[in-house]
Amino acid sequence: MKFLIFAAVFLLDRDAFLAHGSDDWSYWGENGPEHWPGICNTGENQSPIDIITDDAVKTDLGSLKFTRYDFAFSADVVNTGHSIQVGLTGVPIHLKGGSLPTTYVLDQMHFHWGSEHTINGEQEALELHLVHYSKDYDNVTYASEFENGLAVVAVLFEVSNEDNLYLEQILEAVKTVSSLNSTATTKLQTKLIPSLLLPKDHSSYYRYYGSLTTPECKEAAIWTVLDNKMPISVSQIEIFRKVVNSNNETLAYNNRPTQDLGSRTVYHHLEGYSSAHNLQIPKTLLVIVGFFSVLMQGARSP
Ligand SMILES: [Zn+2]
Repeated sequence: MKFLIFAAVFLLDRDAFLAHGSDDWSYWGENGPEHWPGICNTGENQSPIDIITDDAVKTDLGSLKFTRYDFAFSADVVNTGHSIQVGLTGVPIHLKGGSLPTTYVLDQMHFHWGSEHTINGEQEALELHLVHYSKDYDNVTYASEFENGLAVVAVLFEVSNEDNLYLEQILEAVKTVSSLNSTATTKLQTKLIPSLLLPKDHSSYYRYYGSLTTPECKEAAIWTVLDNKMPISVSQIEIFRKVVNSNNETLAYNNRPTQDLGSRTVYHHLEGYSSAHNLQIPKTLLVIVGFFSVLMQGARSP
């Protein structure tokens, strides 16, 4: 009898673990996004979202400061079973500015094929997430327990006729780990300069408060979606689409569907927006005053 009770409790626990374990999730089927547990299902600040540009509140949040993004780093590429993740070794890389409450440290970057964020309903081929944690916390896991604990930068890649040469070294590594089971790791052959994965011009971006886009979907992330996009060719996307997941299935896509914005606001940062807006009338006045003063001078001349 005792054994039966023990066995029953064990089975219940095991089921509970299977249902709620953080790695028992998928992008389709019975463990797909609509069945992800907890706050993934009940949260009201979930990511990704569809950004409706006309509804975004235009403002100047200040420019983003990417510190040491232009250094060259040794890097590992991992097939996590859900994504391709790139980890850098060396000096810490920081993100600040842009009205972020503190300095954030880059933890890792990873890719979603099929972009997660959409702009006016338009999905792009690829999205890069640069995951940073607040310097006030020791690591990304701890930081994800707190509001504003994480700052994620999203870069959208749109289909181009030409290869993106800056993705080549990563794609070579993807080929090495793609058919292996989860947590297969390889080193990049050459050093990686992270700024080359960002659009040169990041003076326009979207900002909102949201969550991680994978279980447990912690609502801890300040999202920055860069407005300018990077290019990627179809043959380069195909390399991502051949990655094998932890169930030995081809990971044809790994984007979570967009979530309700709810009562949240999306801001559209435009450098100098408010000052340019306020200066419009004075500038016009200056021109008129200037015009009349020239006229008056002309009238006074003999
Ligand atoms: Zn992501």
